Amino acid sequence: MSTTSTAQDASNGGGNGRQPHARARRVLMFPLPFQGHINPMLQLADVLHGPGLAVTILHYTGFRNTLDPALRPEFGFVAVPDGVPADVVASGNVVSMIVAMNTAMEASVAFRDVLAGERMPRAACLFVDSSLFGAQKAAEELGLPTIALRTGSAACFNCILAYPMLHQNGYLPPEGSQLDMPVKELPPLRVRDLFLSSRADHDMLSKFLAKATHAARSYSALVLNTFEALETDELEKIRDEIGIAMVLATGPLHRLSSKTEGTAGRSSNVLPHEDHTCIEWLDTQITGSVLYVSVGSLACMDSGELSEVAWGLANSGQPFLWVVRQDLVPGSDGPCLPKGFDDMVTGRGRVTPWAPQQEVLAHRAVGGFWTHNGWNSTLESVAKGCPMICRPQFADQMMNARYVDAVWGIGFELEGELERNKIGEAILKLMKGSEGEAMRKRAGELKKTVASCFESGGSSLLAINELIDHVSSL
Ligand code: UDP
Repeated sequence: MSTTSTAQDASNGGGNGRQPHARARRVLMFPLPFQGHINPMLQLADVLHGPGLAVTILHYTGFRNTLDPALRPEFGFVAVPDGVPADVVASGNVVSMIVAMNTAMEASVAFRDVLAGERMPRAACLFVDSSLFGAQKAAEELGLPTIALRTGSAACFNCILAYPMLHQNGYLPPEGSQLDMPVKELPPLRVRDLFLSSRADHDMLSKFLAKATHAARSYSALVLNTFEALETDELEKIRDEIGIAMVLATGPLHRLSSKTEGTAGRSSNVLPHEDHTCIEWLDTQITGSVLYVSVGSLACMDSGELSEVAWGLANSGQPFLWVVRQDLVPGSDGPCLPKGFDDMVTGRGRVTPWAPQQEVLAHRAVGGFWTHNGWNSTLESVAKGCPMICRPQFADQMMNARYVDAVWGIGFELEGELERNKIGEAILKLMKGSEGEAMRKRAGELKKTVASCFESGGSSLLAINELIDHVSSL
């Protein structure tokens, strides 16, 4: 099967070459309420819905990224009580919020009641974001098998599995002087590429990751949004360690989901609509000339950094498309670009609040991606063969950037303070320099590898078929 027909078939109801049949079985799917987690879960929902499974999405309603059921009428939606204290939500601390969600699910009967109500009729299993391991316990009590979706890389999961070792061997919590030290047990990572935590929330993170690891050993299957050729050793390590029969690399999942709004881009009612006029603007630009700049849905910068990025882009002389979210600069009334910037970049620069990222990355005019290295953005860039300037901020972004640079050779990290001259040099290195050219070549080769994963006999297609067979057998 050709790649194109695979992707189309998935959305038309025949993904993976299977014919849709009456929706005899239903699966429940429970994403973590953050954009980078909602997107792959909905993409997986598309993959399962295609060949004939009915899908009911369980979702929280009290968070920033509240799902909008109107965007996906083909799925059922059931609201779940979150039980997260208002002060924890207000703190914006993502780990605290996730810990509170799990604690609430483990302790309260409310979630179990929802699950029990949805258990019948015909629910085959619960797909759960691997960070919502509290759901697994409740499902187990009801005799409902749980399949976890990991929305990050395999390398990231290995890092989670290794967390106790990282403590025992003195890498964590990190000392300032240790940050560049290689973690010899997890090459090519350095201490600063790990999930870092301040001493203050160190215990909380350790306990959280220990529970996530414990739960991983009880799942009926573990699905990862990555592909075999990209993370061969990392996947093998997971299979060796967690001891469950089915560890499936089905990614990049966005390749099998033709929807953009409601899956890959805006899936909640708080993010702006995708600005499709930027595609018309890209149509006017020279092939391979445009740098696409985006830091995803959560990462932020202060007003000084915003100004340095603006002048770095302006002074580079390179065309660019820059996603400047309304909440990009916290504590402000909205991001304020420096005076004179607009005039300097007329015709060559475009600023938008939210772009159709996959379409942008696939556009012939785009030749590079300045990214925060959220895993979805990283995978989307890999799938489109686009080399990267990496500017990671937190969570798994540092290790994703490290792999882009040191393993796949398709980008480099922009380190240290954001400063306009340094930014300009990095842009020219990627877009015009010979090193950038070599990265672009390697990215092009990786793009072909991604395509082959979805051709007949391709690893991701096989994994998806195995998953569907598994669900049908439950
Ligand atoms: N995205 C988008 N338009 C934008 C910026 C981001 O559609 O202007 C999408 C992007 O394609 C990706 C997701 O938002 O699928 C961001 O996920 P990622 O894991 O990269 O980062 P996070 O937002 O979780 O930090």
